This record gives sequence, C-alpha cells and structure tokens, in this order.
Amino acid sequence: MTTYSTVYVGLGSNQGHPIHQVKQALLTLDTLPCTHLETHSALYCGPPLGPQNQPDYINAVAILKTLLPPLALLYELQAIENKQGRVRQIQRWGPRTLDLDMLLYENKQLNTPLLTLPHPGLYKRAFVLFPLYDCVPNLVLPNEQRLSDLIQRFVVKELHKLNV
Ligand code: ATP
Ligand code: CA
Ligand code: CA
Repeated sequence: MTTYSTVYVGLGSNQGHPIHQVKQALLTLDTLPCTHLETHSALYCGPPLGPQNQPDYINAVAILKTLLPPLALLYELQAIENKQGRVRQIQRWGPRTLDLDMLLYENKQLNTPLLTLPHPGLYKRAFVLFPLYDCVPNLVLPNEQRLSDLIQRFVVKELHKLNV
C-alpha cells in the first residue's frame, strides 16, 4: 500500500504581483512529482516580518499529500521559489517574490542545518496560524497544543482575508 504523508506549506510574497505569485505557486505545488495539493487556505494580506520598509505580504497555507521525503520536498519547494524569481539576499526577512516554508511534515521533528521541523516560526506567526486554521480547525500541533487554543492569543487586526 502507498502511504502519502501530509505536509503543510506556508506561502508568502511581497514582490512581482504577490497575489499572482501565490496563486501560481499553488498551481505548481499540485504538479510536483508524487505529490498533490489537497486544499489551501484563503489568501491573507498583512504587514511584513522584520524590516518594515517593504510592502505588505500576501500569505496562504497549502496542504500537500506527498510520497517525497522531507529533504526531497524541500528541494522541490526551493526550485519553485527560484523559478518564480526568488533572489536570496543578505538581509534577513527582506522582500521576495515567493517564500515556501515547510511548516509541518506529519509530526516529524527534525533539526538539521538544511531543514527544521516543525518550522521554527510556526507557533509564533499569525499569518501562518490563521490560514492554517482555515484549512484544519481541529489541528493538534506536534507540541500537543490545539491550534484553536493557540490562535486565541493573537491580535489579528492587521491581517486581512482577501476575496480573490
Ligand atoms: P524564516 O525561515 O524565518 O521564515 P525565511 O523564510 O526568510 O525565514 P529563507 O531564506 O527562505 O528564510 O530560508 C533559509 C533556509 O532555511 C533555507 O535555505 C532552508 O534550508 C532552511 N530551512 C530550515 N527549515 C526549513 C523549513 N521548515 N522550511 C523551509 N526552509 C527551511
Ligand atoms: Ca519564511
Ligand atoms: Ca523560507
């Protein structure tokens, strides 16, 4: 029997028509080898993380089913970023056409130079947690915390769900 793993991916963009970038990436995720896009959240608009002198971000979360192991999937995500014009800069959290973060890969815990699972920002970022909640409101995170409890702590007045 073939067992697919469930993976949650955070998408972000604030350069080069960000809504288009995120929508294009969602389409491409569904074309990855041995992988399909199960569902995705609405698109959200919110302020940048880190340097504030850059445009707001468009964010979303996608749920993938995949047979690829974590590192192989990370390479595929980075290839999509590169194809959509991601330029890696020295400045941390600078503007980008596309960012694809592997938020969760099943309940795997990993701490290697190339890949940390769960993604270190997962528990702290409203722009990740709210779209994730759209997709799986009953999710229990690997630290055994309920997503529905975690999001109660966040003030969300700066994060807007888009009708696109
Ligand atoms: P942050 O990770 O805080 O959201 P960022 O997305 O701007 O910041 P990047 O420059 O996109 O960071 O990625 C830096 C490196 O992070 C990548 O080269 C990748 O090897 C590594 N990385 C570690 N864990 C993950 C993960 N779970 N998902 C994506 N990349 C990861
Ligand atoms: Ca990121
Ligand atoms: Ca990233």
